Amino acid sequence: MGHEFGEPEVLWRDSQHQFIWLGSGDPAQEDGIPSNQYMIVDGDEAYILDPGGYHIFDRVVKNVDRYVKPEQVKGLFLSHQDPDISAGIAGWLQHMPNAQVIVSGLWLRFLLHMPFGKRMPDVHMLRDNGDEIRLQSGSLLKFIPAHFLHSPANFHVYDCRSKILFSGDLGAGIVRVGKHAPVVENFEEHAVFMEGFHRRYMASNQAVKQYLDRISELDIELICPQHGAIFKQDTVPRFIDWLSRIDVGVDARTW
Ligand code: FE
Repeated sequence: MGHEFGEPEVLWRDSQHQFIWLGSGDPAQEDGIPSNQYMIVDGDEAYILDPGGYHIFDRVVKNVDRYVKPEQVKGLFLSHQDPDISAGIAGWLQHMPNAQVIVSGLWLRFLLHMPFGKRMPDVHMLRDNGDEIRLQSGSLLKFIPAHFLHSPANFHVYDCRSKILFSGDLGAGIVRVGKHAPVVENFEEHAVFMEGFHRRYMASNQAVKQYLDRISELDIELICPQHGAIFKQDTVPRFIDWLSRIDVGVDARTW
């Protein structure tokens, strides 16, 4: 009530399944790059996508608690190793006793430098060429390789039931986030906010091409990035087209 920030929003639902945006923090209170967290609830199980850094933990947990009990969280998916994704992981594991960490095996030995305390993480190591988890409803979560975009071992999640693609850092564009899940309204205007980040952080045009080939067979309703606004309807193909044309990383040579 009366919150200007932090209200979660269900982006898709049916009787067995929900895809939830877990709200945003007040930028005046939360340091670092503003980020989106999402949760998939299927039956009585839940998976959190890129749960976030240490300082946003309390806010995100509060929003998770509105939908599920901590014991229901089965998975904490980390698209890659960055601190804005993983730095809160020890707190999450302590709070969610049944949660596995779902991450590329390439990052495991690095993540073990985190202060885990007594509970070492139970890990689902994602296969380099893609992986999947069958949910209670029978639907699949597909873990799509997005290697070198930007991390060398990087995954996205395609939720087959909602047809939502969680795209991690791909599609990131910093926007002012308030009460509602941010949605791209004007693609040209939004592209200005994405361009610098993609050109400098994404590794190469070849990495983008391999990724676009992989997702070309998916039926995508929404693309939900970890930072910035969500793509829906016509902005989904427009984003994919923009990505196929922009020079990035070693091909852009911005430095
Ligand atoms: Fe990152």
